[in-house]
Amino acid sequence: MADWTHRNREVIMNTYGRLPLVIDRGEGATLIDENGKRYVDFITGLAVNIVGHSHPKIVQTLCEQGEKFLHISNLYVNKPAVELAERLVAATFPGKVFYTNSGAEATEAVIKLVHKWTKEQKTGQDGIVVLEKSFHGRTLGALKLTRQPGVYQDFPVSNFPVYDVAPHDLAALEQVLKEKKPAALLMEPVLGSGGVVPLDSDYVEQAAKLCQQYGVLFCMDEIQTGIGRTGKLFAYQHTSVNPDVVLFAKGIGGGLPLGGIIVKAEHAELFKPGDHGTTFAPSPLSAALGNTVLELLIDDGVLDAGANAAEKLQNGLQELQKEYAGCIESIRGLGMMIGIVMNLEPVKVKEIQQTLLERGMLVDVTQQTIIRLLPPLIVSDEQIEFFLALFTEVLSEVSE
Ligand SMILES: *Cc1c(COP(=O)(O)O)cnc(C)c1O
Repeated sequence: MADWTHRNREVIMNTYGRLPLVIDRGEGATLIDENGKRYVDFITGLAVNIVGHSHPKIVQTLCEQGEKFLHISNLYVNKPAVELAERLVAATFPGKVFYTNSGAEATEAVIKLVHKWTKEQKTGQDGIVVLEKSFHGRTLGALKLTRQPGVYQDFPVSNFPVYDVAPHDLAALEQVLKEKKPAALLMEPVLGSGGVVPLDSDYVEQAAKLCQQYGVLFCMDEIQTGIGRTGKLFAYQHTSVNPDVVLFAKGIGGGLPLGGIIVKAEHAELFKPGDHGTTFAPSPLSAALGNTVLELLIDDGVLDAGANAAEKLQNGLQELQKEYAGCIESIRGLGMMIGIVMNLEPVKVKEIQQTLLERGMLVDVTQQTIIRLLPPLIVSDEQIEFFLALFTEVLSEVSE
């Protein structure tokens, strides 16, 4: 039976609005479907494939580590994991890493870490502040910190306080810190599925200052913004803040599941044996790929090349916005995380996504009317031009 779309519907639970596309293989920023049709991929598996598909160095590491061992558990020293933690700490701040298999599990680790900190502090602080429209994952704990109308929330949750404030509202943040005495503030430097909303550096810096003033842990969810996505290894590095905790996942494993948290040295002993753990994380294979991803980004110049490519793409889109101001309200984002805010009905935006797909271009839609671009850092000038030309063509048809 060759109808994979049908077979998928029969046996896979229906939790995603899946595009009718059966992928056969990938090469760089290109995906190729079962009929040999090629697509330029500006979704990268939802911000995962930061160096594109089947990068030769990733494939090489995959084979090399595969020949050694795939899993050994946390009972022994896992060399690729040690090396990767050394790289992550060197690229951020003195501290230690706790590994997970996914983004949501990184959020869960933060919830537990914050709780342990609360108990040790004995200041009566409790709970976590998040921003409206933020996304921090879908497990029961992480879900409580996710603030999106499209995400079903009505599951039982453990009993810790969560407060939300609007992004960019410092007065509201200060009021919550003062009155509710929370233990931590958790934010995405660019709200991702909340509509690609970059936070102003000034706001992030002032928020960090307030955290310091009120003795609150400042935690950055860099699960989507991290690993070079915004032009720096982590997006907080565009500002002057020093977070207490950084969450990472998505891009780090080069396509394999891997996540975790980097915790500042002064809080890095909060977890002791028995406090937290998982059988799989970090997979030695994922960690080995993590080392290759960071090698590519930092040593081989992919980070800088990606930042330049992102600027080209953003500039091209700004020009297009002026020309088609009737359908494009604005272009926003940071680096390779771009939101095209459409001034059209949600069905029209879906149609544009569909037309782009038919003509060989994969883009995401979030918050109904925002076209979200998450290209890989290795995207070529030709692929950027292909997208801009095709998008222009589709916009001119829409505005006829
Ligand atoms: C994707 C994402 C998560 C959840 O990660 P999963 O690996 O899907 O569990 C959490 N926070 C942010 C900002 C994300 O983009």
